[in-house]
Amino acid sequence: MAASALNDLIDVAVPMPVYRTYTYRVPREFDGAVEIGMRVLVPFKRRQVTAYVLGPGVPPPGTITAKPISDVLDGSPLFPGRMVPFLRWAADYYLHPIGEVIQTALPGGLTVEEQTLYRLTDAGRLALTVQRLDAVTDRVLRCMDPSGRRFAHLRREGGRDFSRARLNAWMAKGWVTHHTVLRSERIGPKTQRFVALLPIDENNVRLSPQRRKLVEFIRMQGPQPVAALKTVVPTAAGLVRAMIKDSQAVYEERTVYRDPLGAPINPDRAPELTREQRMAVETMGRAIGRGFETFLLSGVTGSGKTEVYLQLAAEALSQGRAVIVLVPEIALISQMERAFRARFGERIALLHSGLSEGERYDQWRRISRGEIRIAIGARSAVFAPFERIGLIIVDEEHDDSYKQEGALRYNARDLAVVRARMDGAPAVLGSATPSVQSAYNARFGKYRQVSLLERVDRRSLPEITVQDLTRFREEQGIRRFLTPTLLAAVTATLERGEQTLLFLNRRGFASALVCGACGQPLRCDRCDISLTYHRQINAYLCHHCGFSKSGASRCNRCGSSKIKRLGVGTERLEAEIQKRYPQARIARMDRDTTRRRGQMVKILKALRERRIDILVGTQMVAKGHDYPHITLVGIICADLSLSMPDFRAGERTFQILAQVAGRAGRGQTPGRVILQTYNPGHFSIEAARHQDYDAFYRQEIEFRKALGYPPFARMIQLRISGRDKKRTAAHARRLGDQCRQLIQADPACAGLDILGPIEAPLVRIADQFRWQLLVKGDGVQQLHSLVRELLFGQRSPGRTSEVTVAIDVDPLFLM
Ligand code: ADP
Ligand code: ZN
Ligand code: ZN
Repeated sequence: MAASALNDLIDVAVPMPVYRTYTYRVPREFDGAVEIGMRVLVPFKRRQVTAYVLGPGVPPPGTITAKPISDVLDGSPLFPGRMVPFLRWAADYYLHPIGEVIQTALPGGLTVEEQTLYRLTDAGRLALTVQRLDAVTDRVLRCMDPSGRRFAHLRREGGRDFSRARLNAWMAKGWVTHHTVLRSERIGPKTQRFVALLPIDENNVRLSPQRRKLVEFIRMQGPQPVAALKTVVPTAAGLVRAMIKDSQAVYEERTVYRDPLGAPINPDRAPELTREQRMAVETMGRAIGRGFETFLLSGVTGSGKTEVYLQLAAEALSQGRAVIVLVPEIALISQMERAFRARFGERIALLHSGLSEGERYDQWRRISRGEIRIAIGARSAVFAPFERIGLIIVDEEHDDSYKQEGALRYNARDLAVVRARMDGAPAVLGSATPSVQSAYNARFGKYRQVSLLERVDRRSLPEITVQDLTRFREEQGIRRFLTPTLLAAVTATLERGEQTLLFLNRRGFASALVCGACGQPLRCDRCDISLTYHRQINAYLCHHCGFSKSGASRCNRCGSSKIKRLGVGTERLEAEIQKRYPQARIARMDRDTTRRRGQMVKILKALRERRIDILVGTQMVAKGHDYPHITLVGIICADLSLSMPDFRAGERTFQILAQVAGRAGRGQTPGRVILQTYNPGHFSIEAARHQDYDAFYRQEIEFRKALGYPPFARMIQLRISGRDKKRTAAHARRLGDQCRQLIQADPACAGLDILGPIEAPLVRIADQFRWQLLVKGDGVQQLHSLVRELLFGQRSPGRTSEVTVAIDVDPLFLM
């Protein structure tokens, strides 16, 4: 069987909270069937568990003998052996059990279990006819022919006298083999007929000019559906039939992918690059195939970064290497997919949570079998099982959604750089508003910076007008935000038949709810956080835990039914705008309107087709969408993210403002932005107004330096939470004390700083009391060994059944 098969001892990881790997034995019956990257079933603490094969095992010490595996669950590896060091690195770095890291990496579709089927061989059939077999053997062997049977089925057939040992003996004799199939139903891919070429001997066959045109087109673009050929030669349908008759072409059934925006994707060709794009492609393209390097591609909004990615990808593909493209969220993945598919046809795998499990599993398998060289996906695509990576692209590298907050708390952007290093490939991090961390790395030569300073076609960046909201404090309700300047601009834009985007980073109808009788704010019962009123469902909702209560609820303190609904969210903004512009076609894009699959894409499509005049939305609209017809962007209140008690508040505010402003004027007509704020003098807002990244960076980096925050220090945060207020607090304090003692006792820990334990800014979420302990220092190794000792060392207060301690290495959110 496979040359890479492992025999004898193997090293496996189990998906459980354990920090080591285990050695098992491969019994003879599985000779040649086990490879790195497969799943096996192993006896573990009196249970049978799924484990992942990482490599050859080391013999256990002394007289202990390794236990045998019970089964092999995969017919081919789920990930290549080359990925094992990367997976181990992630486990070490994020202080997370290796088996759980692998579980995170693998597609969820793997709950779709593969199962082993046993089948009779020719030797077995012969034995059945020529040998005298006992009744059980005879019965069981017969039931395996001709189609394979599951073990459970064999046991039913064989009754009490049948056993696995017997089955093993038959396999040893070569009478029975096994193979694996997928148990659950798979979602079948959609297929369509494509026209492919057969070899044409052009010395002997003269092609008509029309046929030649088709042949050249297919040679260049790969097999095509007839509809696509018609765009090149209108009479393609008839020509193709004739070519098939002449054995020059054949039909092939191929999987097709519907364009998420519903429009057909026409193959495109690279446009002529701008001077800056060309230089960027040359600089970074040269690095492909030459080892590891990280580039920070910082290009203003609308500078054509996607085209740069496409050309770099083409270079990597031409060297026979694979490309991973990370994109922060699903709607943007669709946009990227569209661009890649137009250029590279269907050689693309998609990996994101919007796919069904079966689909994700299929995509994963196509990669691990080497059928495909490009993967586009959200953060988990950093684990795509390619053997030979030539390039990793991280688009919108500053985006917080690259950070996973549950389970394995990893940052896909950072892992992308690590994986690129291990595979000796360049990583390209692109953004119009690079994270402070990446910009710092670029300035100190760790990354190489490549800049695109101009928009494509020299389109100008939008002009930004600032509205000081303090002048409207006396106004009532929504009038505080719908300033005359903003309304005049919306009116003018509507009259010109152009589109407006109104950005407000808060969903719901009313965000400040207070009792009209006693002044008590309306809070979540489980979180100590203000609720938000949602009019469409007439309910008060908690945005942190999902708690809800009826819109008829009374004040918790005095029982009054008079709740004042103050504060503005997108739902209210939409309603008010519709009141003022009854004729306008208005849509809203936020978490409430896009919860169902496909809703977001529907809105984007309507926008593109100009069936929407005004789009109201939260930060969802700020991300890198290309909306060619928007000429006005109104930022309703720029300050919402500034007031967060988090050292990245300024960075987030700058990014989101610069990004949302960048949505304006991406088409032929120049754009305009009205930025409303209570803090016109704040440097993040000033910098966003001038679209001056450097000005923002200079200020921000001073502030980080003064306070010793990243990038000047590394941090690990421990999040301690539990249902019992006192015990949680006590446990947090114990950890804090222990941590301080460890630092004092160990000279290697000199220079590490402990902050806390303190109650988290959001003290209670979903009835969990939350504490945090932050350790800070220059060296990540020091931090790691301290936390390891603290949580897994001999004298560790460790974890208890009542209090959970989550480890967050390089935390992004300190709330
Ligand atoms: P960014 O991601 O940098 O904000 P995009 O990649 O979305 O910008 O590009 C902006 C627009 O410019 C897109 O509509 C794209 O098709 C177009 N574009 C990019 N490069 C070129 C080029 N060289 N010539 C013409 N149009 C281009
Ligand atoms: Zn009250
Ligand atoms: Zn809540």
